[in-house]
Amino acid sequence: MALIVQKFGGSSVANRERLFNVARIVANTHNEGNDVVVVVSAQGDTTDDLIAKAAEITHSPSQREMDMLLATGEQISIALLAMALGELGCPAVSLTGWQAGFHTNRTHTKARIRRMEAERIENELAKNRVVVVAGFQGINRQDDITTLGRGGSDTSAVAIAAALKADLCQIYTDVEGVYTADPRIVKHARKLDVITFDEMLELASLGAQVLNNRSVELAKKYSVNLEVRSSINNVPGTIVKEVVDMEGMLIKGVAKDVNVAVISILEVPDEPGMSFKIFSLMSKHNINVDIILQSAGRPGYKDLIFTVPLDDKDTAYRVLQENLACFGGKSIEVDDSVAKVSVVGAGMQSHPGVASTMFGALYSSGINIRMISTSEIKISVLINKDEADRAVNAIHDAFLG
Ligand code: ASP
Ligand code: MG
Repeated sequence: MALIVQKFGGSSVANRERLFNVARIVANTHNEGNDVVVVVSAQGDTTDDLIAKAAEITHSPSQREMDMLLATGEQISIALLAMALGELGCPAVSLTGWQAGFHTNRTHTKARIRRMEAERIENELAKNRVVVVAGFQGINRQDDITTLGRGGSDTSAVAIAAALKADLCQIYTDVEGVYTADPRIVKHARKLDVITFDEMLELASLGAQVLNNRSVELAKKYSVNLEVRSSINNVPGTIVKEVVDMEGMLIKGVAKDVNVAVISILEVPDEPGMSFKIFSLMSKHNINVDIILQSAGRPGYKDLIFTVPLDDKDTAYRVLQENLACFGGKSIEVDDSVAKVSVVGAGMQSHPGVASTMFGALYSSGINIRMISTSEIKISVLINKDEADRAVNAIHDAFLG
């Protein structure tokens, strides 16, 4: 007998048929003698629909009222799933985020979990009930409802697993696991049996949308056993854990991120403190800078080129333009016709030649590299957006073909 947390995303509970499918998976797990806590998201596009409804009323809704509204989506799912479990003869009780003990900070619409009080869940489990918990929501010190940010139910599930010291946290989704590349782009992409937390974090932040970033961070911090698997096909998924056989696969995946823009500041005086001034401005406006390149311009000047998330490009441009005099650049250019393509694998720490294989694959495909960045377990290149899918395929072939 084990304690298992199972999380089902919006598409897995989208309608009556899907809900009963989920209820059967849960009931089977319970019938096998396990304690089960289920975390669900809002059905289908409910959260998007609720956001659209708010936009019909106002363009600047109060964040508190936004959370009040968005939290209703998950509440529908928990009640319906508890009813479906009842229909299957499986004892179940639904709990909202606050009933389940999610205490968050006060940041509405992207709250962070401060602490988890799991007594209520434990008491319900002791009564042999399946506990169905609303994901994505909690309560702050003022007793106001908060939400954890889009895709936050993964984090809810991992937080419960950590608090209850669950044996396993299963994230059910509409794909069979974590793939070596997006199967819609790469025909030969294959499912990974295992991946490390660090690799998963890189892939998650590079746009491989199977798991929410924060949930992986949390799972790593509390050593939660994670499995990503399909709610439709009953096949083993991908296990995410701390250490994976280093002799195994060198490269775990190739990811593409089109949510990126390049900012170039031309002819900045070549003096101490210029980079400091520029990147302080970015950090003051909460803009995450990724790849940075500094190149020699004409004597006495340099060009500073860096990437920012696509959504932040206008703010970045405006802020830099307003402060141009302060760091003395000549002009600022913004380019959003780019994509970042990356290979990820913990094995590359101890294997030379990953960069050359990657660059060789791009060269053979006639694709020009504009910028490069590396970490211990990742190499990213910035290329033209319209060549990105070709690049992902060429690189995938070179390492995993
Ligand atoms: N329903 C929320 C969203 O769509 C939370 C989640 O799906 O995890 O973002
Ligand atoms: Mg959702």
